[in-house]
Amino acid sequence: MSVSRRGFIKLLGAGSACLGLSKLGIELAPTQAYAAGLKIEGAKESISICPFCSCCCNVLVHAKDGKIINVEGDPDYPISGGGLCAKGASLKSLHTSPQRLTKPLYRAPGATKWVEKDWDWMMERIARRIKDQRDKDFMPTNATGAVVNRLESVFHLGSSQVSNEEAAVLHQMIRAFGIVHFDHQARICHSPSVPALAECFGRGAMTNHYCDLANSDAVLIMGSNCAEHHPMTFKWILKAKEKGAFVMHVDPKFSRTSARSNLHVPIRSGTDIAMMGGMVKYILENKKYFAEFVVNYTNASFLVGEKYSFKDGMFAGFDAAKGKYDKSFWAFEKDEKGMVKRDKTLTHPRCVINVMRDHYSRYDLDTVSSVTGVSKADLLKVYEAYSATGKPDKAGAFVYALGWTQHSVGVQNIRLSGLIQQLLGNVGNAGGGIAALRGEPNVQGTTDHALLYGYLPGYHSTPTANFQTLDAYLKAYTPKSVDPMSVNWWQNRPKYMVSLLKSWYGENATKENDFGYSWVPKMDPGEDYSHLYIFDRMYKDKIKGGLCFGHNPCQTIPNSHKVRKAWDKLDWLVIGEVFHNETTDNWRRPGVDPKKCKTEVFLLPSAYRAEKAGTVSNSGRWQMWHYKAVEPLGKSRNMGEMFVEIMNRVRDLYKKEGGTFPEPITKSDYPATFDAEAVARRVNGYFTRDTTIGGKQYKKGQLVPGFPNLQLDGSTSSMCWVYCGGYTEAEGNLAKRRDLTQTPMQAKIHLYPKFAWVWPMDRRILYNRASVDVNGKPYNPEKAVIAWENGKWVGDVPDGGQPPMAMKGGVYPFIMHTEGHAQLFGPGREDGPFPEHYEPAETPITRNPLSGQMHNPVMKIIKSDMDELAKNGDPRFPIVLTTYSLTEHWCSGSETRNGPALLEAEPQQYVEMSPQLAKEKGINNGDVVIVESLRGKTEAVAMVTVRVKPFTIMGKTVHLVGMPFCFGWSKPKCGDTTNRVTVSIGDPNTSIPEYKACLVNVKKATKVTEL
Ligand code: SF4
Repeated sequence: MSVSRRGFIKLLGAGSACLGLSKLGIELAPTQAYAAGLKIEGAKESISICPFCSCCCNVLVHAKDGKIINVEGDPDYPISGGGLCAKGASLKSLHTSPQRLTKPLYRAPGATKWVEKDWDWMMERIARRIKDQRDKDFMPTNATGAVVNRLESVFHLGSSQVSNEEAAVLHQMIRAFGIVHFDHQARICHSPSVPALAECFGRGAMTNHYCDLANSDAVLIMGSNCAEHHPMTFKWILKAKEKGAFVMHVDPKFSRTSARSNLHVPIRSGTDIAMMGGMVKYILENKKYFAEFVVNYTNASFLVGEKYSFKDGMFAGFDAAKGKYDKSFWAFEKDEKGMVKRDKTLTHPRCVINVMRDHYSRYDLDTVSSVTGVSKADLLKVYEAYSATGKPDKAGAFVYALGWTQHSVGVQNIRLSGLIQQLLGNVGNAGGGIAALRGEPNVQGTTDHALLYGYLPGYHSTPTANFQTLDAYLKAYTPKSVDPMSVNWWQNRPKYMVSLLKSWYGENATKENDFGYSWVPKMDPGEDYSHLYIFDRMYKDKIKGGLCFGHNPCQTIPNSHKVRKAWDKLDWLVIGEVFHNETTDNWRRPGVDPKKCKTEVFLLPSAYRAEKAGTVSNSGRWQMWHYKAVEPLGKSRNMGEMFVEIMNRVRDLYKKEGGTFPEPITKSDYPATFDAEAVARRVNGYFTRDTTIGGKQYKKGQLVPGFPNLQLDGSTSSMCWVYCGGYTEAEGNLAKRRDLTQTPMQAKIHLYPKFAWVWPMDRRILYNRASVDVNGKPYNPEKAVIAWENGKWVGDVPDGGQPPMAMKGGVYPFIMHTEGHAQLFGPGREDGPFPEHYEPAETPITRNPLSGQMHNPVMKIIKSDMDELAKNGDPRFPIVLTTYSLTEHWCSGSETRNGPALLEAEPQQYVEMSPQLAKEKGINNGDVVIVESLRGKTEAVAMVTVRVKPFTIMGKTVHLVGMPFCFGWSKPKCGDTTNRVTVSIGDPNTSIPEYKACLVNVKKATKVTEL
């Protein structure tokens, strides 16, 4: 028997193996011959995962004598096939960088330098700081006297860098402390994806998976430059193109994505809803929609209640005093039994599709063209090409990223793509859906584990003060349906919530004490505890200390002058990081006197990805295990160990000294040490006692086989119900699976059902019941995802095992929605049931031609002496600024700016501008320029390029400039963050800041450093 090097590893059945091993009863000669001439001979090979974008490319890490000597792409990873982009290719140099943090560092108040300390000293002092602050500021009740048991003066920020297991113990700790100012990178990258996609389809995640893009007949990339920022995604789009798909890139600037697409359409940043609203009008007027799908699977036929209206940019129900909508005005009309009234003939004037037609009737070609700057010819090209997928055997996919999310209408940008997909029947099928290209390496998993103030793990709303008991909470958040064909899956929420509380409090969570519900901190209803508000409250001296892990907010949060001043005001700060960055070293940034900064800083060196084990989840929800290849560099530790030690030290202090409301901490069922494998089992969940379900017996301590088995009575635990089923007694840790076998049906659509594990319940394509007709026959038999054959489903794991709609016992396909249908009309979002075009908070125009309402009427506006907004059409700031990432640098660049090859390729801050604007301003290519807004200014090198073009907006020339957001002052000395000029304005649903459109001016710098 002879084997290749990869085959050899597989035969060992492990993700980590020594290539020098032999005498296993197999002929190793070919392997040895192959390895002999290579530097990796005798090295241990481990599978790890790139820590940058959410493609989560698997990598092979080779280590010898405890040191990484090589990192290369894993050819067995279906998504990358062994490919890596520039960042992934730099993993060895980043892991072994001399700039890594390797020792705990301490900065005393007013000190001018870091001092080395040992872990014990640091941890003891951190625990003391946390306990003292908690004891001092803990709030048992709020202003109305309701029990809230929370701590407002301490925050936690980050981290999408951690594994799912680290996130699980982190979340448990933060809630135990009572912290409500709790947020991570999802807030600033993809927070709109969850409420937008959930409102459309029921869940907030990317609907399909990366490889599935190869099945599309048309791909519309808007708000993403995926060729550069999610390179492995683009590989699958190019496969589709090779097979004849039409690929369109609608984006303010020309990029590598544009270059490889069939069509690039420049659009003024912030006007995507206008363009897509025009597409809705086009689809409805030209009857391009997939009528059978629309009638059966969407709420097109539902009757909207008579209280609903839309006039001149405003939906019914606006309360000017509160600055909010009363959403009860958007309710559906119901019959006496509580069933939503429907008109399947779609003729009733108040059925959703007609209300929708009326809504988008204003979005004619002339108006859309004048708002967006897109020519009418280009609009028609996109509308025609994309709407051609509204046929049973065709599929179209939307691909988006931060270009959609980072707007004051971020949620509604995504919602509108969901409306178009519903009209065209592009949901649940191969090549359809909406590809939310998540950002950071595990932002999907850490969103599932809810490192965000508003959720508990598994997408349960964080309790608020108006729900004082578990029963009241569950009544409010558990929907009821009277329709027997609606699965209404969220009716199971109580089981998941109780199982979560059991996982947190173990034996201490009993039915009698509401399973410890009173120990979970309660927010004030409607209050916002996200990034923008955390920094505003910090700036206003309401926050005293905090924890920040794997996050660089002094670089990445808008209006960074204010953010940095706010950071200066902290009494103490704990940071876990891999490298120094603008946040760790804010106290010694240019222009400030460190002696005047009072903050006591504890800087904890973190292990890097290949130095630890655990799971991460890519955008397509694939939960994958990565192995530890080497020990952490120097004295660095993985963050899971740090969280566990902090929590246990604080607990020890409470046990020894007592203190304020210690129960959430002392009664926690918290691990004594961090072991990723053990936490993965906790995340899946156990039976807490011997239990019988459906005649089957389970023993105490046995793993729960899947979330349908979770119980309401406290007999099960699970730290995150959507991951329940990923670690079973029968098959072990399914995230470790590396099996690439496929049936012919699966091979046709690039489905790898046995590679890793996917939530929920290993279902690869969400809503796949919508890919078949009401009898279960695939709409496109050539690319079938599932099919009802001989009384059962075959193919992917069906989204609900019940028969198809027309069969006995059949159910609607959108099982997460109370009414079982995808929602064209979405009554649950803060800014309206239909997406509507509003201008960005800062706009170069003075009138919105689509209505009398200029801006999103409920957008979040932060007010302080440092939060100024330019007025509409402000002549001092006539240029639109948009921001973006680069292939060579990731997010704030705090890691990748330490990679010599990456820096060589992209060494400095720059601003892209058109030749026309450059001429107008007397700027030459390569000049240093000042980019200025009402919030401040920053310096950049001018890149004069035809990739950016001026727009004609309502008859006037509007210029746009673009800047990367990955450069900062700490290293290299090449310009500071773009966020010195951006705005503190948030989408009303999630408070994601509007990074992608603000007003600036540019001028040639009179000397090289003006700042
Ligand atoms: S950054 Fe993304 S595409 Fe590049 S190697 Fe890493 S995971 Fe793959």
